[in-house]
Amino acid sequence: MSRQNPKVGFVSLGCPKALVDSERILTQLRVEGYDIVPTYDDADVVVVNTCGFIDAAVEESLDAIGEALAENGKVIVTGCLGAKADVIRQAHPDVLSISGPQDYTSVMNAVHAQLPPKHDPFLDLVPPQGLKLTPKHYAYLKISEGCNHRCSFCIIPSMRGDLVSRPVDQVLQEAEKLVKGGVRELLVISQDTSAYGVDMKYAEREWRGKSYRTRMTELCEGLAELKVWTRLHYVYPYPHVDEVVPLMAEGKLLPYLDIPFQHASPRILKLMKRPGAVDKVLARVKKWRAICPELTIRSTFIVGFPGETEEEFEELLDFLREAQLDRVGAFAYSPVEGAKANDLPDPVPDEIKEERLERFMEVQAEISSVRLGEKIGRRITVLVDSVDADGAVARSAADAPEIDGVVHVDNGQKLRPGQFAEVEVINADQHDLFARLPG
Ligand code: SF4
Repeated sequence: MSRQNPKVGFVSLGCPKALVDSERILTQLRVEGYDIVPTYDDADVVVVNTCGFIDAAVEESLDAIGEALAENGKVIVTGCLGAKADVIRQAHPDVLSISGPQDYTSVMNAVHAQLPPKHDPFLDLVPPQGLKLTPKHYAYLKISEGCNHRCSFCIIPSMRGDLVSRPVDQVLQEAEKLVKGGVRELLVISQDTSAYGVDMKYAEREWRGKSYRTRMTELCEGLAELKVWTRLHYVYPYPHVDEVVPLMAEGKLLPYLDIPFQHASPRILKLMKRPGAVDKVLARVKKWRAICPELTIRSTFIVGFPGETEEEFEELLDFLREAQLDRVGAFAYSPVEGAKANDLPDPVPDEIKEERLERFMEVQAEISSVRLGEKIGRRITVLVDSVDADGAVARSAADAPEIDGVVHVDNGQKLRPGQFAEVEVINADQHDLFARLPG
């Protein structure tokens, strides 16, 4: 690349879905001959991809924009917070342009206006799998945008719109390219993975000479052909989740389900506008485990939702004890500007929210330690993330990157990132496993 190439700085905030947006913009910038530079000083212009999910994320995004303006002065804003242009303009009137999530064209137009591209597109400047912000051996695979649900605590549908699925052949082609580029683990993401294809009436498409419907189960069947790890995130607890568990038992998909249950009290779930058949959820969890004993279930919960009584919170703890979920994240409810839940009566005082969060995490910590402890003495397959003098840090089928634990392999100095290895588990704590290469 010539030193004269126009230079863009990039700040990427937010969830994996925003990360995928960043990867697409970065790929397009490289296709058009822009250099991506790591410092404000070197950049001719800075793009900030924002998150607007909760108030803390809005603040972080506004701070990042402020920092970029102070350090560089030329700032293009995009992403979820971009849907609230007035909030950004009020805090930072000098930004060059504001666009919402997935609006790649507006970002590129703003970059062109500020910094015309020097070359015609040279497609060969970019690796065929595009540019990724994740390590070389795993990648997020975004299968749809938007969401048809209207959970009362969430403003994503108002920012990202209703569900729009990507046709299954496009997703499978992208997955194929990623695997050819060295990816060993595909992380399927969306707002609601189980709803995939509803908007397209599950349209049929062809890939590698075979017909697939644009639907979660068929997508998983296709991905299984690529013979790498496939992990499903954000699966809504609807009945057809049952269809993918047998695929997990057959080894076609990682035995891992990330299902945000959010609560267990039917009344609170109703206020949240989530499905409320808790007894059925427990029965289904049992059935899934009977079909696929290796299954890891991860979930997230909100404690202190408006109106949550002590009894309803206890119901949630009872659910946790009964369901014995493997991995759990929890948040004390925090109002999101524009969310319907803000109008609900009886907000829970902050100190009670915090106290409940602590009790919740205590119960779950015990469950997680017992479940991880049961793995001691077993042999498991891990995918290596990094290696240094102290050994390797890897993940098992039960560990999604960033959000779950890891497997420390203390004699794994000779392993390489992206390599699969068989290890023997020798110890566990609340989060992580400790293992050794046998022999
Ligand atoms: S399922 Fe609910 S929480 Fe998730 S994006 Fe859709 S509306 Fe928001």
